[in-house]
Amino acid sequence: MTTPLVGVPSVQSAPSWRSLPARQQPQWPDASALDSAVQTLGRSLPLVFPRECDLLKRRLAAVARGEAFLVQGGDCAESLDAADAASIGRTVATLRQLATVLGHAMALPVVTVGRLAGQYAKPRSASTETRDGLELPVYRGDAVNGSAFTAAARTPDPQRLVRIYNASAATLNLVRAFGMRERMGAAEAGDGLREFAAGSPSRERYEELVAGIEQAGGLVPADGVHTPGDLFTSHEGLLLDYESALTRTDVDTGKRYAVSGHLLWIGERTRQLDGAHVAYFAGISNPIAVKVGPGIGTDELLQLIDKLDPERDPGRLTLIVRMGAERIRDVLPDLIAKVTAEGIPVGWMSDPMHGNTIGAPCGRKTRRFDDVLDELSGFFEVTSGLGVHPGGVHLELTGDDVTECVGGAPGLTFDDLPDRYRSLCDPRLNREQALDLAFRLADTLPG
Ligand code: PEP
Ligand code: MN
Repeated sequence: MTTPLVGVPSVQSAPSWRSLPARQQPQWPDASALDSAVQTLGRSLPLVFPRECDLLKRRLAAVARGEAFLVQGGDCAESLDAADAASIGRTVATLRQLATVLGHAMALPVVTVGRLAGQYAKPRSASTETRDGLELPVYRGDAVNGSAFTAAARTPDPQRLVRIYNASAATLNLVRAFGMRERMGAAEAGDGLREFAAGSPSRERYEELVAGIEQAGGLVPADGVHTPGDLFTSHEGLLLDYESALTRTDVDTGKRYAVSGHLLWIGERTRQLDGAHVAYFAGISNPIAVKVGPGIGTDELLQLIDKLDPERDPGRLTLIVRMGAERIRDVLPDLIAKVTAEGIPVGWMSDPMHGNTIGAPCGRKTRRFDDVLDELSGFFEVTSGLGVHPGGVHLELTGDDVTECVGGAPGLTFDDLPDRYRSLCDPRLNREQALDLAFRLADTLPG
């Protein structure tokens, strides 16, 4: 018996992950309210379709073979209150511009994946937070509770799962509409890049790079052989009640798919070999990724790969390395060498954000542009030293002019952080910083 793709809850039989320990799950105060939200989600339409997920998997197989480059980025945590079409448009445009610059630098087609339309749940290092003697549950993302520091806001509310499903649907609708506009010829990536280069401290060099891009075939989004408007969605598959309620059996193939986004990843804090997340991910057919931090050993990584990609299915598994600028050159070579020696066809990409978070004097979390660039450079050094394809970059960024990370083209300092610090969780590169990063990287690549 298969569950039809659309319409029928997929939670009738308890899947195997339910008996396993699941880290980072909220303490929902009311089981019947959770059940009702899960039932609603189970009856909801899929946000993405299995054939789209398969298409992304084929493109990620090209990444793993060294024939394409992956650009993945977006908010650390999407916000229900701040959802705004213009801002989503600016983030999508920034991703396009990054894809254009990096695709040209690598001389490869680019696969573009947003951290959006579903990125609403956050793993946290502590379960409570204390301010002025008051201890409350920590903010776990808009999928779970509110960020305001009040007992009411911080109480997990399962109805939020339905709200973030609806917000994801609306966001995805916009993203698909932007893609259609691009297909109709209104791409603005070129103007944005020219403008950025003209205003940059490295103007001469960057204008030269833009001219090179134009000569090589113009400034249309660089998805190469792919449809220019394609933008896939991704998020951390953290809340298993949500993901499992939005899992469907594909009527054509009988395979199970998460239909909440095209690509889901397992975070650094929830990738335990015998944990519920790995078991859930093993049972879906989407392309998946896993974050890999400096504490992982080679044996652990090989076992993780065995569980998540036992068939060695090209494009199935992408490893998102997030080591920190200081450690990447020491830790990464061994991991790549062992996986490569086993002949495993994974894609390697760099998240140069999550190993480089620091506390600013004002108490906010921030990241130094130079540390981000340094980790990225280390990733390219290590991969090219081992003859392995540097498959892509995973960035926390926004098209908005926020002040969350320090350094880069706008020259932001710690003192600037309070001006426009909007992130509910980790600090993002703003548009100028993200483009500066892409141009700086492009400048060092042979392509
Ligand atoms: C994230 O991507 O926002 C995140 C929490 O990353 P990691 O799991 O690598 O810490
Ligand atoms: Mn983050």
